[in-house]
Amino acid sequence: MTTRKTTARKPLPKKCPDCKGTGEITETVRVGSARKPRETADRQAALCLTCFGTGDAPTD
Ligand SMILES: [Zn+2]
Repeated sequence: MTTRKTTARKPLPKKCPDCKGTGEITETVRVGSARKPRETADRQAALCLTCFGTGDAPTD
């Protein structure tokens, strides 16, 4: 019988709620005037400003 080593896992840091731990968010691309913005189907990846791309939930 082989003894399986259990990998010691570090407790994961809390994931950023905004980007869900990815560090990236997708923004809706808007076109048109500021008075009448129109959302397009396009999404662009952007750096999550909540965690600054780390994916970790900010601590206070
Ligand atoms: Zn984030």
